[in-house]
Amino acid sequence: MDTFNEMRLRGHEQVVFSHDPSCGYFGIIAIHDTTLGPALGGTRVWPYASTEEALKDVLRLSRGMTYKSAVAGLNLGGGKAVIIADPKRPDRESLFRAHGRFVESLGGRYITAEDVGTSPTDMEFVKRETKHVAGLLNLSGDPSPVTSYGVYVGMKAAAKVKWGKDSLAGKTVAVQGAGKVAFYLMKHLKEEGAKILTCDIDAEKVKHAVEELGATGVATDAIYDAQADIFAPCALGAILNDDTIARLKVGIVAGGANNQLAEERHGVDIEKKGIRYCPDYVINGGGVINVYGELQGWTMDRAKRKAQEIYDTILRVFQIAARDKIPSFQAADRLAEERIKSVMALKRMWVAGDR
Ligand code: NAD
Repeated sequence: MDTFNEMRLRGHEQVVFSHDPSCGYFGIIAIHDTTLGPALGGTRVWPYASTEEALKDVLRLSRGMTYKSAVAGLNLGGGKAVIIADPKRPDRESLFRAHGRFVESLGGRYITAEDVGTSPTDMEFVKRETKHVAGLLNLSGDPSPVTSYGVYVGMKAAAKVKWGKDSLAGKTVAVQGAGKVAFYLMKHLKEEGAKILTCDIDAEKVKHAVEELGATGVATDAIYDAQADIFAPCALGAILNDDTIARLKVGIVAGGANNQLAEERHGVDIEKKGIRYCPDYVINGGGVINVYGELQGWTMDRAKRKAQEIYDTILRVFQIAARDKIPSFQAADRLAEERIKSVMALKRMWVAGDR
């Protein structure tokens, strides 16, 4: 793999390989694009089989963060870090303090947060070495309420496009997963009078949703065949694939899970069936909004107000899709690229403070 060529193809600004022999730290920080602001993205700890595998992941994930923050309307660029290690490694302090020192060495161009294999406690170790870290204990906390609120309003916007009005009262929503994002989403749906079907590999979580919210539990594999108006994937990635798209009977797919399309062509297939697909990184942007809110010192209410904008963003995505005759997942990318381009254009004018 030619690293510079990969950077050129995807437009990365900077990739930093770091090693601390004192604790056996091997990490890569990728900064994709900082047109809109410092590159924000979590740190993933994973036992990658090779440096190449880790590099591919960090390049892909950091680029995704540029797009996610751009469509969320935040003054943030995209970045990501990976540490090649067992996520259950016990010597957390040395590992994450080493990481913090490397983050600090970038002078604020990259801001980290938690991700797969890391926790708020790990971020406290990072914090001892740098202030460029979010997702700390007792600050913004669990992002799921803001994420699910964004999913809820995005779902309503899709209903407006699909059925002419955004009320979800009387609609049946099949929610895959009954975890954190799913549960808060189901609360909003219940308040609006929607009927809820849900499933989870953890039977206790389904029981909780049935008892607390009056949801109906279904078998995990049966969720794709459900007679429902909306499918809300809130558990796993790659659940929109050759097998499942053929089985869906819904008019809208709108859920919080990351990377819902198994391959890009599935974003085309789903629309051929007449289903409105809300691109995952647009509708689940409440998570990054929550982190941004922490950096800005926002209250949860303020973060939720920002997440409310996801309603208009979903409408805009479908407008661009119609305007340019492209599937919604491509329209989301175009919306992000248009924002970055317009901000870049503003920077051609010199103002005091520029050097
Ligand atoms: P979570 O772990 O609380 O919930 C996920 C649930 O999915 C778990 O209860 C798990 O048992 C269940 N699950 C796993 N495999 C399943 C299967 N085959 N069928 C049905 N259920 C299954 O996680 P979460 O924070 O609610 O996140 C859910 C999704 O949303 C993830 O894809 C996550 O990356 C994404 N996301 C979350 C946030 C956030 O703020 N938490 C933000 C953006 C994106």
